Amino acid sequence: MKSDISEALFERAVKVLPGGVNSPVRAFGSVGGSPRFISRAKGQYIYDEDGNKYIDYIGSWGPMILGHNDERVVEAVKKQAEKGLSFGAATRLEVEMAELICESVPCAEMIRMVNSGTEAVMSALRAARGFTGRDKIIKFEGCYHGHADPMLVKAGSGVMTYGAPDSAGVPEGCARDTLTAVYNDASSVELLFSEYPDSVACVIVEPVAANMGLVPPADGFLQRLRELCDKYGALLIFDEVITGFRLSLGGAAEYFGVRPDLVTYGKIIGGGMPVGAYGGRRDIMSVVSPLGKVYQAGTLSGNPMAMSAGITQLRILKNEPGIYENIKSLGERFRNGIRSVLEKAGLTFAVNGIGSLSCLYFNKGDVYDYRTAKQSDTDQFAAYFRHMLNAGSYMGPSQFEAVFISNAHTEEDIDKTVHDAEEYFGL
Ligand SMILES: *Cc1c(COP(=O)(O)O)cnc(C)c1O
Repeated sequence: MKSDISEALFERAVKVLPGGVNSPVRAFGSVGGSPRFISRAKGQYIYDEDGNKYIDYIGSWGPMILGHNDERVVEAVKKQAEKGLSFGAATRLEVEMAELICESVPCAEMIRMVNSGTEAVMSALRAARGFTGRDKIIKFEGCYHGHADPMLVKAGSGVMTYGAPDSAGVPEGCARDTLTAVYNDASSVELLFSEYPDSVACVIVEPVAANMGLVPPADGFLQRLRELCDKYGALLIFDEVITGFRLSLGGAAEYFGVRPDLVTYGKIIGGGMPVGAYGGRRDIMSVVSPLGKVYQAGTLSGNPMAMSAGITQLRILKNEPGIYENIKSLGERFRNGIRSVLEKAGLTFAVNGIGSLSCLYFNKGDVYDYRTAKQSDTDQFAAYFRHMLNAGSYMGPSQFEAVFISNAHTEEDIDKTVHDAEEYFGL
């Protein structure tokens, strides 16, 4: 596979962009080689500058649940572009977007739009602290919640891959109130609560951990978090930046039947545009400015271009419920395919997944938390990644990224990718 143009672009990129990229997860540092520069995408495929075509299993890290460049989404954006890119004033689109989210998600009574998942989390934490008058936050090892200072503690994929659990540049004071618990181990949360019974503002969790590979919640884990938060007067925040509108229309909250107090969104709700949102109980959201005393603002928040893309994608998901069945069955086909390849090869690596999200860990044991995820053989993953890439199956360039399947993928795509894996394992 030719990659001359990508390599030349990367040479230029490293001179003007730190590491040649604008987000660390795009670099190929942990898998070797230089990143492919993407020039266009359609449906399940992406194409690089050298003209190579790949089946894409990243989907822009989640947003492209319909596949790339869905004509209806593109059309909505084009139409809006003719009317104006940004007004900095209230629009009909923001009302429609908020109504759409509140109708789809039982726990969302009010919503505030922002510009990224990072911003959504940062703002939800501020609202939780403002509402409870408490400072401490409980998060889980290996869960990623964006790059806001208090969340860069044991923070999942990008940070895991680059071995920097605590980022430089985060003052000790900013991380001091962040307590870390063990994912899928409610007793570790109970212990923290018993140590700080009156000072925990909230527990924030990825209801399905999708930034340390893919770790579904153990039976009863999320329910237990709900009970503990109620017992100690803390708020439960589901970070649904990946799971929102992916596991189901109502996200993980609906899927697992657990009602969080606040919820954060990003990725899918922007349809590929930079969007985030946070929302939840009306009494909590009423502390947000200009209604309440928690300040939070944004020049481009609720941007009409972004809203029109997001609304169009969410409406399609709402009106075509078969999409969830379809991507789930493709996800199962992928996992079953990989499992049968492993079986033929006499290997017992962990294959985790739920719905359209999966992860093959080069790990002989079960993976159910950060510690077990970290035991994976990242060198073997790197070799597998390179083989898959050159065979035309584009996976996230890290052992700790999930495989994302969209509604544009077909059974033939999945079978082709499983076949690529079969070749890697020498079958
Ligand atoms: C991607 C992600 C974020 C951060 O969103 P950005 O838009 O990249 O800032 C937060 N939480 C989770 C669970 C994510 O996967």
